[in-house]
Amino acid sequence: MATCGILAYYGRPTIIKRAESLPVTVCINNMRKIDAAKEDWAAAGGKTNGTPVTASDFEGYLDKYRARPLVCPKGGVYRYGDVREEPSCSYHGTIAEAPAMTRKREKEEAIARMPALLAELIVIVLVLVVAPVLVITMKAKHSQ
Ligand SMILES: [Zn+2]
Repeated sequence: MATCGILAYYGRPTIIKRAESLPVTVCINNMRKIDAAKEDWAAAGGKTNGTPVTASDFEGYLDKYRARPLVCPKGGVYRYGDVREEPSCSYHGTIAEAPAMTRKREKEEAIARMPALLAELIVIVLVLVVAPVLVITMKAKHSQ
C-alpha cells in the first residue's frame, strides 16, 4: 500500500508538482504545520484560547508535521499567534491573505526592478543605435 502512495506521489502531473514548489504554497503549508502543531500542544496541555505561544512550546509537536525546515522561501518571518489565532508570515500574511499578498508583493518587486531594466534598455540603445551612427558619421568625415 505504501508503494502505491509513493508511486502516486512521484507520478503526479508536472503542473501539480510546479504548484507545490511555488514559494507561496510552501509558505502556506508551513503555516498549516505550525497551526496544527500549536493546536496539538494547546489541546494536550488544556490551554485556553488566547494563551501566548512560543516556538519552543510546540517544537515537539511540529516534528510529526515537519517534512522540511519551516522557513519561508521568500524570507518571511513567522508569527505563531496565540492559541486559536492564525499564524502569519511577514511576507505572505496569513493563509487566507497569502494568494492576494503574493500578487501584491510580486507587483511591488516588478516596480522595484524597473530602474535597473530602464538602465539596461539605455545601454542597449547606446550600443545598437548611437554607436553605429557615430562610427558611420566619423567614417563619412574621414572620406571627405
Ligand atoms: Zn512566507
